[in-house]
Amino acid sequence: MTSPHHLHATRTAWALHTALTRLSELVTVETRRRSDHYLAAANQLRSPVYGVRHATGDHADPVGGVLTAPDATVPARWADLSQTAHGRLSGIAGMFRANPGSDPHTAIVGRIPHLTPSTAAILHKHLTDEDAWIRAAVRLEPAGTPLVGVSCPRCGVRQLQVHTDGPAEAWTVTCSCVCVGQGCRCGAEGAVEGVAHIWPRATVITGRSA
Ligand SMILES: [Zn+2]
Ligand SMILES: [Zn+2]
Repeated sequence: MTSPHHLHATRTAWALHTALTRLSELVTVETRRRSDHYLAAANQLRSPVYGVRHATGDHADPVGGVLTAPDATVPARWADLSQTAHGRLSGIAGMFRANPGSDPHTAIVGRIPHLTPSTAAILHKHLTDEDAWIRAAVRLEPAGTPLVGVSCPRCGVRQLQVHTDGPAEAWTVTCSCVCVGQGCRCGAEGAVEGVAHIWPRATVITGRSA
């Protein structure tokens, strides 16, 4: 079923996907840099100019400089963080009975439609926490912008935010007003009391379900 909790969990999963993609890009750049560093050192060791490294190399010997510059100068910071994120997401996938495999994020997303609303709410909390620390690490602001000129379907105030993570058809719109549950004018399927209003973007813009 779909409830506001499911929509919030799905939205946060898309945000997390964006954060993980950024982290993955940083790992790629870092891996290339480390590999370049290693190859440069290897080339210098083999270089006919410098010849084979001898114990007699003095301060002017650039090979000596390479040998005394360990890998610690190019730490695998992003790779380590990516490993941590992967491990944590695998743990979350397991908690929600999704088989994490090599791609726990996809496994989690696949489980969302099968969760009860209250379980989707707990998953949303976990995903929010993961999204927050990864974004803080990679310095990525949340993707979103005010939805100009459109009134909230519930409270009528023009303070809607559109969240632009993932493909456009996955974008959602939120308001700061909260749902009063069954009978709320938002008309959300599975309306939950006390949960911030959230809609698929197409619903708000066209006034009907996507
Ligand atoms: Zn509102
Ligand atoms: Zn409502």
